[in-house]
Amino acid sequence: MDFITAKGLIVKETDFNEADKMLSIMTDSYGLLHAKASGIKSLKRKELSGAKPFLYSEFTFAQKGDSLNLREANMIHSFLDIKNDLTHLALGFYILDILGNIAMDNQPNEPLLRLTLNTLFALNQGKKDAALIKAAYELKVADIEGFTPHTFECMECNDELDEASFCYFDVLNGGILCKDCCPGAERNILKISIPTFRAINYILDADIKSFLSFDLSAEARAEFSQVCEKYLLTQSDFHPKTLTYYKKVMLSD
Ligand SMILES: [Zn+2]
Repeated sequence: MDFITAKGLIVKETDFNEADKMLSIMTDSYGLLHAKASGIKSLKRKELSGAKPFLYSEFTFAQKGDSLNLREANMIHSFLDIKNDLTHLALGFYILDILGNIAMDNQPNEPLLRLTLNTLFALNQGKKDAALIKAAYELKVADIEGFTPHTFECMECNDELDEASFCYFDVLNGGILCKDCCPGAERNILKISIPTFRAINYILDADIKSFLSFDLSAEARAEFSQVCEKYLLTQSDFHPKTLTYYKKVMLSD
């Protein structure tokens, strides 16, 4: 029997038999892996204590043919403070859902994993507004997955927009339009203010370490959140239930 070891984050758990679970884990060296965790619901399996959502852990699997059996999971870093706030928890599950949907089986994606770890770190700290963390993550995921929008100038006339008072973001075609090139806001074209335009460019330009080091006025946050969410969902054609749940929690807060 072969053993493989990798660091990773659980993105999905499914109950299986009485005491077992099937886990999907985004790992550093192997991309997305699916493994059976036998007896994980039993309190006696201490060697599996690191196999929980919101823990970054080192996993050891026994490999037999195509199937993996989780043998050990040891925590490296905990993001469990996310559970202290229902909004953070709902957002945390949405983030893991995005990661699990974009990650590919057996294909390492170090930027996506690092981006997610940094995002969970910020959410766990609880200092930054959750809606800003969410929007920045959505936009940066689109960026590192190759759906980078054209945003430094109008994508029609190439005019720079720094002197403008507002512009438009076309979420379907992926770019900015100036007011002369756009007849107005519609389903896939959102009007945005210049602070939002600058925040978008900051995130696209920033590296994974510093992409959350920005702030935005309260008035701009709503449009910024809307444009980032709509952009990722439109480009990835992903409609997660975890997002519906996050919104429900936000409304009841
Ligand atoms: Zn233009």
